[in-house]
This record gives sequence, structure tokens and C-alpha cells, in this order.
Amino acid sequence: MALSTERPREPSSAAPEGPATPVDLHTHTSRSDGVLEPRALVEAAAAAGVRLLAITDHDTLAGLRELRAPEAPPLPAGLELLAGIELNAALETGTEVHVLGYGLDLADERLEARLEALRAERRVRFERIVARLREIGCSIDAVLAGFDLSRTEALGRPTVARALVAAGHATSVADAFERLIGRGGPAYVPHPRLDPAAAIALVREGGGLAVLAHPAEVVASRDLLADLVAVGLGGLEVYYRGYPPEVVAELASLAARHRLVATGGSDFHGDDAPYAAVARSVSVPAAAGARLVAALRDAAASPRGKGWPGRATLVRR
Ligand SMILES: [Zn+2]
Ligand SMILES: [Zn+2]
Repeated sequence: MALSTERPREPSSAAPEGPATPVDLHTHTSRSDGVLEPRALVEAAAAAGVRLLAITDHDTLAGLRELRAPEAPPLPAGLELLAGIELNAALETGTEVHVLGYGLDLADERLEARLEALRAERRVRFERIVARLREIGCSIDAVLAGFDLSRTEALGRPTVARALVAAGHATSVADAFERLIGRGGPAYVPHPRLDPAAAIALVREGGGLAVLAHPAEVVASRDLLADLVAVGLGGLEVYYRGYPPEVVAELASLAARHRLVATGGSDFHGDDAPYAAVARSVSVPAAAGARLVAALRDAAASPRGKGWPGRATLVRR
């Protein structure tokens, strides 16, 4: 099939023409690896014309909890906010398979404990990288002493790379990855692998709908989709920043064939373009957003009990 497309890791710097998408179901805030505070993101989305927004930070619901807190100011008028998450899983081959979850219960303590365990793994990996660097004579301890590492989201290789530059062990972030901490480098430490089926189970047991994120190259490379559907995948991210119309059409037909909810979003992080520009690089039909919300409501109302009734699906304003 003609699905292979390079997923643009960075949004195009040329601002696309046209209106912003009315629905954006995939965004990141500074509670994971995004740039904007949760509040700033919802304001930017509302200003761009988005009516239905999902925040899908990696491994954390912190931003959503802040926005929903009793003392938080109301959301911008006309904006509906959906609770979401993104989990980075991988196949044994190393191919990354990202799973989005929607309709999660923000008050589910068991879910929160499992997310906390994922975040703790990130801290362990970070410390192992720092120890490795010390062993090979590229200590960044002195530099890290001046960094705020209290937030788990800071504990990634970008932080290590920036510290290596500051300590004079690398000439740039790219150089740090290439010579020291990238795959094959002397201070490379692999991520503990989260199996895609485990990621799907985590979302479902938290009462959510599991959706395969930016799936174009993943489903093109092997017939993975049927396997994931068999273990509970419920949706496919059909619309995604930079996907050309023919890829969207292929993914839409795959979603229909497997009876998956079609979702979509910008995967906004905020590194190099303002929200309004990124929101013009994807077009998620309002009907797709409405279908997701209806699917989550149906699930919440269904008497099936455990698993997929998304309690507290929508974050109330
Ligand atoms: Zn992703
Ligand atoms: Zn993402």
C-alpha cells in the first residue's frame, strides 16, 4: 500500500495556508515535552479557532488535572477539553509504536500509579546515562547541579545533551547525540521497552479508548494493525500533521475496515512554530471529533462494566 510517508519530526517552517483545524486531539504541554503551559495551550487553541482539544502529554495527566482543578479559571468559551495521554511503546525490532488514550479517569489512582512507574523508569534511565558519562570522563554533574530536575519531564536526553554542551564535552546538542548518548554511543542507555499491547491494556484498564498515533509508517511496514486490534486497539489517528490526502484516505479506509474510531491532531510541541501555524498543518473534521466524543459517551453509559466505560470522559469547564 502507498502509506509510506516520512513523518515530519518538525512542523514545516513555512506557515501553511488555510484555517486552523476545528478539532485537535493530539497536543503536548510543558507537563511533558511541550513548550507551552497547559493554560497557554488552551488559550492558543481557542484563539486559533479550535473547538475540541485533547491534551495528550507523555505519561502524565498533570496538565489536565491543573486545568480541571476547582480553583482553576474557566476554560475559554466555546472550547471543549478532552482528557488524553500518549504512551511510547516499541516493537522488539525497536520500531516505535505510540499509543494515545482518550476518556481516561483523572481520579483513577491505579492508573496514576502505573503512569508514575513509567515516569520513574525515565528517572532511572537518566541517572544511568549520567553515571556512564562520569565513567568515560565526560561528567556533567557540575552543570546538572544548576538545572531544575525536580520535574520528571526534564529527565530526557535533550537535557543531558544541553548539559554536555554547557560542560564543554560536546559542541552542540546534535554532536552530543552523535558521539556520546545516541544509539551506539558510549553513554547510550536504551529505554526499557513498553510493549504496545501493554500500553493498550494500560489505557483500557484506565477506562480509556486506545488509539494508534501517527500510524502511517508503522502500519505500512508490517501488518501490525490486526494484532493491535486483537488486543483492544479502538482507534486510528487518521489525520496527522503533514499527512497528504492520499495517506489520510488510506488510513481512513483501514480504520473503517477494522471498525476503529478515526481521530487526528497536530502533535503540537511548540518548539519551532506558534500553535496557530501548526494547527493549519492538519485538518481534522468536526465530525471526527463528534464521533470520538459520542463513542466515549456510549462507552461511559454502557453497562459492560470494567474496561471501557470512560468515566469523567470530558473535562468539564
Ligand atoms: Zn508520538
Ligand atoms: Zn505526541
